Amino acid sequence: MDELYTLDLHQALSLLEQGEISSLELTQSHLNRIEAVDGRIKAYITVGAEQALAQAKRADADRAQGRAGLLCGAPLGLKDLLCTTELPTTCGSKMLKHFVAPYNATVVEKLQAAGAVILGKQAMDEFAMGSTSEHCAFQIPENPWKAGHICGGSSGGSAAAVAAGECLASLGTDTGGSIRQPSSHCGVVGLKPTYGLVSRYGAIAFASSLDQIGPIAKNVRDSALMLEAIAGFDEKDSTSIRRLVPRYRDALGKDLTGMRIGIPSEYFSQALDSEVEREVRKALSTLENAGARLVEVSLPHTEYCVAVYYLIATAEASSNLARFDGIHFGYHDPDSTDLLDQYSRSRAVAFGDEVKRRILIGTYALSAGYYDAYYKKASQVRTLIRADFTRVFKDCDLIASPVSPHAAPAIGAMENNLVSMYLADILTISANLAGIPAMSVPCGFTSEGLPIGLQLQAAHFHEETLLQAAYAVEAQLGISTVKPVL
Ligand code: GLN
Repeated sequence: MDELYTLDLHQALSLLEQGEISSLELTQSHLNRIEAVDGRIKAYITVGAEQALAQAKRADADRAQGRAGLLCGAPLGLKDLLCTTELPTTCGSKMLKHFVAPYNATVVEKLQAAGAVILGKQAMDEFAMGSTSEHCAFQIPENPWKAGHICGGSSGGSAAAVAAGECLASLGTDTGGSIRQPSSHCGVVGLKPTYGLVSRYGAIAFASSLDQIGPIAKNVRDSALMLEAIAGFDEKDSTSIRRLVPRYRDALGKDLTGMRIGIPSEYFSQALDSEVEREVRKALSTLENAGARLVEVSLPHTEYCVAVYYLIATAEASSNLARFDGIHFGYHDPDSTDLLDQYSRSRAVAFGDEVKRRILIGTYALSAGYYDAYYKKASQVRTLIRADFTRVFKDCDLIASPVSPHAAPAIGAMENNLVSMYLADILTISANLAGIPAMSVPCGFTSEGLPIGLQLQAAHFHEETLLQAAYAVEAQLGISTVKPVL
């Protein structure tokens, strides 16, 4: 019975419903799994065993009384920037090492209202800045498929935990790829919803016009269910959109006849690893087998995406992170002599290098005299990038590409080459700049046994089309059931 952690979310929920297992057993099995493998994976910053077991008991009682919500009794994980009142929210930073939020994020409230059990908070790059999770102040989570390799970032702990059976599913955030890229590197399914579909209230902000919360799950069906649980209007987030949440699971299993899928020539450049290209092209043919038509398209402003993203994201970050001043929140330097000294010492001690670098770039880009040249110009080019997508989606239902130009590198390999780390974001950041939904679905492995992901992007609020196509790929390739050996 201790193998329950190997179930996927749907299987677990149906066994719970049939009374074959209890949430207490299921939760205990996940806690045992964490105990057994997290020394190697290092996915969790905080495990809330006691709280989780109490929530599991409550879920079992609710179910017995016929009050089971959508996720009743399912043990899940959370990226450690989603605010929770019962567990600390560190954001992977020394700055917030002991921070316990006074309220829950809306998505956490929604998960709890659906009966979910929260196992703990997962490792991430500090303030979600990075693509490797190596910028976490406490630990570097490792890829479950290969020791010594990164699990991607910034939601790396979440993707690794799902892949390693340390939770049934998790929530991450994606500002420039941080759900999709770690999902791709860990062989799980990651979905970044349309900007505004999921409330950001209680997600510690990195770049507010780009951030979006979304599910990381073992398969496409599970991610559809998770999205159903968290999507919807929230008056506490002024950018959240009033719209009916569909039953995303109903989109699964339909064939793709008549669907047109755009293949952007700019996304298949020479910088693409040959094994990644090979596996992605195989996945594209599964889409054709399922009835879709592949058409070549162009997103001509792709070459500007990285520059535009790293100006807008850093500018917004410099403003968002101004609140960490050593007084309102988090680390407070004990040795300062006056107010200014307090600000600078607290920030100097508690922020890591990558965060400081971004604050500096962003503050510069927003400063008087440079604003027009950098931030304003970047915003104008962002409009052009958005227009590229609008034009392509007039003729296509989806855009398909790799998620990342390469599979997960070894830990340390990117550290001395930050520019190449930034450049590797080129395939994911445009979805955030355009605000469209995008998904990563496993499509193969390198010869070293590292997972490779296919990315699908759709027009605003067309998550159902994404899920429908991702499901077709998953069903044909049949690799979502292949698990890493730990
Ligand atoms: N890798 C990107 C960055 O470092 C994206 C991060 C994210 O999506 N949070 O900014």
